[in-house]
Amino acid sequence: SQIFLDGAFVSRDDAKVSVFDHGLLYGDGIFEGIRSYDGNVFRLQQHIRRLYDSAKSIALEIPYTQEEMTDLVCETLRRNELSSAYIRLVVTRGSGDLGLSPTNCHGARVFIIAEQLAMFSAALYEQGIHAVTAATRRNRSDSLNPKIKSLNYLNNILIKMEALNAGASEAIVLNSEGYVVEGSGENIFVVRDGVLTTPPAYLGALEGITRQAVIELAGELGYVVKQEPFTQHDVYVADEVFLTGTAAEIVPVISVDRRTIGNGAPGSITKRIHEAFTQIVRTDGVR
Ligand code: PLP
Repeated sequence: SQIFLDGAFVSRDDAKVSVFDHGLLYGDGIFEGIRSYDGNVFRLQQHIRRLYDSAKSIALEIPYTQEEMTDLVCETLRRNELSSAYIRLVVTRGSGDLGLSPTNCHGARVFIIAEQLAMFSAALYEQGIHAVTAATRRNRSDSLNPKIKSLNYLNNILIKMEALNAGASEAIVLNSEGYVVEGSGENIFVVRDGVLTTPPAYLGALEGITRQAVIELAGELGYVVKQEPFTQHDVYVADEVFLTGTAAEIVPVISVDRRTIGNGAPGSITKRIHEAFTQIVRTDGVR
């Protein structure tokens, strides 16, 4: 495969970065996970915008314009002859001396990987997944705003480990006030009496692009969608629960902390929204 790295396309074996890269040493960098479906890069403009917002927020200067970055993503797909792929776009502070100061670094490093997606099994989408509530909390007064898609994912990894340790596939994160925030790397929706609710991003969630697409689709399908705080209790008593993310798409959750959600099978509204989502991913984006 051909990987874009520091201004050139290189082979997978040659795609190596220095141990002095501050992205590696300190998690000083940002990223995006993007998907293409049959040649359409789903909502690429929104991913690029979020990347540049993350960069701005951490005072990281990306050495390309947004238009150039859009072209680079499309070029990476073309070079790999991939029409349906998962794309990982990473910008680090670059290599520098040891020490936290970004002034040590010699300029941002950009790399783009496009790979065939190792999707979740079809059975998982048909049956739904089991989830638990994570003990690891999200603290929304952290100076590192969760809206920044930074390379500091250790908290998310610890949350994923909690899920796996409990024999579940995913974990639901609460913030320090006990409100439901999101999954380890997905946003969350609950459905009760036909009304969809997702936590407002200000509780400490990433503003997911799939989340936004689902809010729009559900509205078009005639459902009421609320962005309001809710607690663990509201998750347990929901008729349906699902998670959304670029890699995961829309995943039904059938149990949380061993409480069966609804009748223990993916809900009808979740299915309708997933169906509608599969309709737009091939047209809504950049070719
Ligand atoms: N929340 C977190 C912490 C994430 O890392 C992601 C993945 O990007 C999401 C939510 C879902 O966002 P999106 O739908 O933009 O992929």
